[in-house]
Amino acid sequence: MNLHEYQGKEILSSFGVAIQRGVVAQTPEEAVVAARKLTEETGTSWHVIKAQVHAGGRGKGGGVKLAKSLEEVEKLSGQIIGMNLITPQTSAEGKKVHQVLIAEDVYYPGDNEPEEYYMSVLLNRATGKNMIMYSTEGGMDIEAVAEKTPHLIFTEEIDPTQGLLPFQARKVAFNLGLSGQAFKEMTKFVTALYKAYTEADASLFEINPVLKTSDDKVIAVDAKVTLDDNALFRHKDYAYMRDLREENPIEVEAKEAGLNYVDLDGNVGCMVNGAGLAMATMDLIKQAGGEPANFLDVGGTADAERVETAFKLILKDPNVKAILVNIFGGIVRCDRVAQGIVDAYKNMGTINVPIIVRLQGTNADIAKELIDNSGLDVQSAIEFQEAADKVQAVLS
Ligand code: GDP
Ligand code: MN
Repeated sequence: MNLHEYQGKEILSSFGVAIQRGVVAQTPEEAVVAARKLTEETGTSWHVIKAQVHAGGRGKGGGVKLAKSLEEVEKLSGQIIGMNLITPQTSAEGKKVHQVLIAEDVYYPGDNEPEEYYMSVLLNRATGKNMIMYSTEGGMDIEAVAEKTPHLIFTEEIDPTQGLLPFQARKVAFNLGLSGQAFKEMTKFVTALYKAYTEADASLFEINPVLKTSDDKVIAVDAKVTLDDNALFRHKDYAYMRDLREENPIEVEAKEAGLNYVDLDGNVGCMVNGAGLAMATMDLIKQAGGEPANFLDVGGTADAERVETAFKLILKDPNVKAILVNIFGGIVRCDRVAQGIVDAYKNMGTINVPIIVRLQGTNADIAKELIDNSGLDVQSAIEFQEAADKVQAVLS
């Protein structure tokens, strides 16, 4: 589950990470109230208006603006709320902005220049360890840094059974070239950030920039957070943070129906039981010259109702040119699945794309007969290769 910046900052703050403070607003009027409140609480005279959408690069797309008066807060909020924000991380259509974060200005002048760093915590799947990636070259161009000067990005690996050790936090602060008060602030920041990452069961915390203010405070100015869906059951207090407006509508519907569906860019829809078989089926589609339009695991109970829901979901994707059903009948009998497919097809009336059904396992031959005698425009297959050939044939 992806979070908005303001939600990520809320979690960070609850674990003791210093943040740029802000208040979320849905309208320009609310934005002005929020700005007044922030000025009372923090003494800030300027405010930053930040579009809240699930995409980075907002600054580049005009979704982050500095307001130097309450009139500007109102005007800029009015411009950003409702806009279609296009950033390097959104699709070409962009993302509609429903709300803004009104934040205190933390780039105020002082003894030193403010400095921007990059920091993220994530899982290194290759080593099975967590890692902190960080760089002195924070700000809006970290992707370019990663590409052109990768040696400027440091990584610190953390054994999850030991947690972040104090010397590791100090090493991060040292590599960022800090000393004195800022050094202490940074070790505190890193320690609290790692705690937030593990205790919230996140798979990503990306803070870009981490800011060293002109008076040597270290704070999170941005927060891109992904929580691990598999651990959400033990974070009921975060459930309300889900913003369905930001998610793929077909995926949301699938989740409600208890199906495991991931939308992809291809042209062959697939319906499979079991994640491993789904992966293999996607490979098979690629081999046959197609591209999978989705990942869909219907799970163990492939009855008529579930099959119908799955068909409907797949057909909502206008790119789908064919559907491959690949079901292994282990616990569930193939003939029952076949009956489910036939019933679902009949219930739906016409389906305008060719369907190839491969059923293997218990009662596979009875299932094939059922499909073949149904009088429907559905092709059956028993072998994997046979199914692949039939997919290839309908695509060419
Ligand atoms: P992103 O573009 O989506 O990554 O959004 P960020 O939250 O990182 O903000 C983009 C940029 O806005 C930052 O890199 C800063 O340069 C700038 N910015 C953010 N907060 C402030 C602030 O308080 N004052 C000023 N002057 N600039 C800010
Ligand atoms: Mn950022």
